Amino acid sequence: MNIHEYQAKDILRSFGVATGKGLPAFSVDEAVKAAETLGGPVWVVKAQIHAGGRGKGGGVKLVKSIDEVKAEARRMLGMTLITHQTGPAGKRVQRLYIEEGTAIARELYLSCLVDREASKVAFIASTEGGVNIEEVAAKTPEKIVTVHVDPAAGYAPYVGRRIAAALKLEGDQVKQCVKLIGQLYQAFTAKDMSLLEINPLAVTKDGNLVCLDAKINFDDNALDRHPDVKALRDLSEEDPKEIEASKFDLSYVALDGSIGCMVNGAGLAMATMDIIKLYGAEPANFLDVGGGASKEKVAAAFKIITADPRVKGILVNIFGGIMKCDVIAEGVIAAVKEVGLKVPLVVRLEGTNVDLGKKIIATSGLNVIPADDLNDAAAKVVKAVKEAA
Ligand code: GDP
Ligand code: MG
Repeated sequence: MNIHEYQAKDILRSFGVATGKGLPAFSVDEAVKAAETLGGPVWVVKAQIHAGGRGKGGGVKLVKSIDEVKAEARRMLGMTLITHQTGPAGKRVQRLYIEEGTAIARELYLSCLVDREASKVAFIASTEGGVNIEEVAAKTPEKIVTVHVDPAAGYAPYVGRRIAAALKLEGDQVKQCVKLIGQLYQAFTAKDMSLLEINPLAVTKDGNLVCLDAKINFDDNALDRHPDVKALRDLSEEDPKEIEASKFDLSYVALDGSIGCMVNGAGLAMATMDIIKLYGAEPANFLDVGGGASKEKVAAAFKIITADPRVKGILVNIFGGIMKCDVIAEGVIAAVKEVGLKVPLVVRLEGTNVDLGKKIIATSGLNVIPADDLNDAAAKVVKAVKEAA
């Protein structure tokens, strides 16, 4: 789960982390009131969306009067902000964050994540922070330093000192850095984060370290332990299809292709996506209906797939183990009866109750293209989509 910058900064502040003072705003009036409360004379008006790159897209503006706060708030609220992280459709700005302006001397990069290969939490730091970190990573990766935290020993000050050295900090800034890294590690582990990114971590003109931007992702599997975090979820930032899928406990990820997939088992779902690509098309989604799905769950999954206007063909690929092929067949038929079927449907069933499943589909009167194996199924659905186009 993702949250907004202003929410992330609230969490970090509760662990003692130094950030600028700021307030969220949901309207132009609230933005003006926030700016008046903060006092000025310089403010930053920041669009709140679940994506980075806002600065380059016009979503972060430094302003020097209340009139300018008002003008920027008016311009940003309701605008569609397109950044390199939003995709071409962009995201509609519905919240702002007004922060006191900070006089920046240097912009550094700092993040914390779970390094699965090392089985440790890692801090990643670079002197080249700011809006071009992707370019730094691509062109001068030697400017990015990784420091791991030993999970048995926990956070120790030498980790902070190594990061301070990598960031070319001196004197009191080294002390501030050691303290900051300790606070970030504490926040990261206490809240079950999977990613914490501060870009930029600013060195201010008066020599202090301040977090100017904050992005946090949480481990979804741990959310039940954190009702306070769960409450920060902003559904308007999420794909409606994924929200619908989560209601039925379906593992669904929306993608950009044209072939909708309904599969059981994450491994088989991945293999199905791969083989669709092998036959020259792109999957519209990842979907694992799970092991013991009911007819209702299968129908819900099928409806989510057919509601996607990008879907030009559907491939149902089921290996019945715990999942029974007849349950899948009944779920598909129930969904089609309700919402209709306007695109070619290829069904490949194998395993438990396969004969019954095939019979249910064959006698349903639906225009289904049956397939025998994975190759056959992928070839047939790609061909059917091409012919229909
Ligand atoms: P992002 O583009 O979505 O990553 O948004 P950021 O919050 O990182 O802001 C982008 C850039 O705006 C930063 O790299 C800074 O250069 C600038 N910026 C943000 N806050 C301030 C501030 O308080 N003072 C000044 N002078 N610049 C800021
Ligand atoms: Mg940033």
